[in-house]
Amino acid sequence: MKQSLYIVIIIFALSVISCKGENESNGKLNVVATTSMITDLVKNIGGDLINLEGLMGAGVDPHLYKASAGDVTKLAGADVIFYNGLHLEGKLVEVFEKMNATQVTQIPLGESLDKNTLIGSDYFASNYDPHVWFNIQYFKQFATEVVSTLSRKDPQNAKSYEANAQNYLAQLDELEAEIKATIATLPAEKRILVTAHDAFNYFGKSYGFEVVGLQGLSTATEAGVKDVQRLSQFIIDNKVKAIFVESSVPRRTIEALQAAVQSRGQEVVIGGSLYSDALGNAGSVEGTYIGMFKYNVTTIVEALK
Ligand code: ZN
Repeated sequence: MKQSLYIVIIIFALSVISCKGENESNGKLNVVATTSMITDLVKNIGGDLINLEGLMGAGVDPHLYKASAGDVTKLAGADVIFYNGLHLEGKLVEVFEKMNATQVTQIPLGESLDKNTLIGSDYFASNYDPHVWFNIQYFKQFATEVVSTLSRKDPQNAKSYEANAQNYLAQLDELEAEIKATIATLPAEKRILVTAHDAFNYFGKSYGFEVVGLQGLSTATEAGVKDVQRLSQFIIDNKVKAIFVESSVPRRTIEALQAAVQSRGQEVVIGGSLYSDALGNAGSVEGTYIGMFKYNVTTIVEALK
């Protein structure tokens, strides 16, 4: 969409919002979140105390996601926007920048992390790999940022936000202990994760996997023949049993890799579909961050055993 059209839509949306007044939202904070991981997090902390809109549903690729006119209206009408940042939502950067001139509070959660601990990347304009939610400790820091922002914007409910956050943080600690125990059942030399794109570098670094993505860090560039050849040799050299598709990336990229390995006389199975940049369907177990994480780890460990 052309820049000028964005500006027109934002101005229009703001004029509509300013006519509505506070009561339209029942006095609750209007909160918009981008990815399904962040929407789930904010829901756990804000609960019924906020009006929450998540922009990206199951299977949606945040690297490629463009704001519709309806999204821009939601964003312009928000009191707070939570997003991943670090240029994960590459096509929304322009919209967020336009909104800097408005009253909307924008919180790029990934930007609050200690940059010295992040994985560098030349690919993203941020210079960092943005897939930070695959380190549960970082996701806990997201939670801390969400609770402080909601409490600042809505001090009356601060105690409730804090209580919800404490409860959720405890669940995240349990999650981390559980997935570490599951991973411990897989011999160290089998901890090699081959996926469609490099979404799992933080997962690998945090939980002891060597991670190789076919498409690189973003899905915006397609994998080339060279990538397929290089990676198929790697799979053969390392006797990798299984490779994985991702719910938000077309299956054909990994199928091409499987075919290349087979053409060289070795079998490799598709070990399942992992949730990388989006959760599963809303209402399902994998539609939550915690359910998604357990599902991914179980799928990976079972297929590589
Ligand atoms: Zn990604």
